Amino acid sequence: MNGIIDDNLLQQIKAYKKLFDSVRIVEPFTNKILFKDGEIIEDSAFCYTCEMEHKACTKCIGLEALKSQKSFMKIQHVGDKMLLVFSVPIEENGKLVLELIKDISEGLVIETIYRSREHDLQNIVQDLNTLIMKDPLTNLYNRRYMDRMLPQEISKCDKKHPLSIAMIDIDHFKTINDTYGHNVGDIAIKAIGDILLNSIRNESDWAARYGGEEFLICLPNTSNEKAYKVLERIRKTIEKTMIRFDDKKINITASFGLFTIDSSEFAVDELFKFVDHKLYQAKEQGRNRGIK
Ligand code: GH3
Ligand code: MG
Ligand code: MG
Repeated sequence: MNGIIDDNLLQQIKAYKKLFDSVRIVEPFTNKILFKDGEIIEDSAFCYTCEMEHKACTKCIGLEALKSQKSFMKIQHVGDKMLLVFSVPIEENGKLVLELIKDISEGLVIETIYRSREHDLQNIVQDLNTLIMKDPLTNLYNRRYMDRMLPQEISKCDKKHPLSIAMIDIDHFKTINDTYGHNVGDIAIKAIGDILLNSIRNESDWAARYGGEEFLICLPNTSNEKAYKVLERIRKTIEKTMIRFDDKKINITASFGLFTIDSSEFAVDELFKFVDHKLYQAKEQGRNRGIK
C-alpha cells in the first residue's frame, strides 16, 4: 500500500484503532501526516492542523521518538479537549512514527488510566510495545519480535546454556484450504497458536508465527533432548486436537525441524538453514514427525 504500510503494520493499526480515537503515520521532520484512520493522505496535510490545533507543537514527541527510537507519550490540550498522544517509531522506516491519539477529556478515562496501579504510564507504553510485537490472529509473537529477539538469544548461549530452535509447519495445509476454504485454514492456524501458547509455560521460552502456517519455538537454556520432548508433546497434541467449525470436525498434523546450538558464533541465517533442513527431512520422511 503505497510503500508506507506493509500488511503487518496494517494489522497493528487495526488493533490500535480499537483503543484509540485516531491512528496516523506522521513524518515529524516535515510535520506531514501521510496516513490517517485507514487512508493514505495524498496531499500530506500538516499534522497539527488535523487535530484542530493550528500551530505546531512546542514539544514534538514524534521527533523525540525518532531520535531515541523509543515510544513517547504526552498530554496535549487542544481547545477544551485533552488528548493523550503516543508516538511510536516505525522500525522499517527511519523517518516515520505511528501516532496514537485518545481523547481523554472525559474524567472516566483519566481515572481508569491514572488510578489503577497496574496501568501506570510505563505499563501502557509496555502494553503498546507488546501489541506491536504480536500476531493478531494467533496472539503469538510476530516476525518483528523474532527478528529482534533471536540475535539476543544467540548471543546469550554457550556450552552450559544451549539454545534450541524449532520450526513447525502444518502438513498438507494447502489441501485444508482447498477443501474447506481459507477461513477454516485460519481457524486451524489459530488452534495451533492456542496449543503453542499452552505448551510454552516456562518464562524464558517463546513462540512466534513465522509466516502463514509456520511457527517458531525458541527454547533458551534447553538441550536438544529436552527440546525434542517438548516438541513431540506439541506434535502429539496437534495430532489429537479436533478443529471444529460449523458442524464439522477435522484433524490436522504438523512436522517440525529442531536444531540446538551451544555457541554464540552462529548467525540467525545459519541457524535457520539448519532448522529448515531438519524440517525438510521431516516432510520427506512422511510428515507428522520431527527431526532433531
Ligand atoms: P507441506 O505438508 O509440505 O507443508 O504441504 P503444505 O500444503 O502445507 O505446503 P506449504 O507449507 O508450502 O503451504 C502453505 C500454504 O498455506 C500455502 C498457502 O495457501 C497457505 N497459507 C499461507 N498463509 C495462510 C494464512 O494466513 N491463512 C490460510 N488460511 N492459509 C495460508
Ligand atoms: Mg509452509
Ligand atoms: Mg505446510
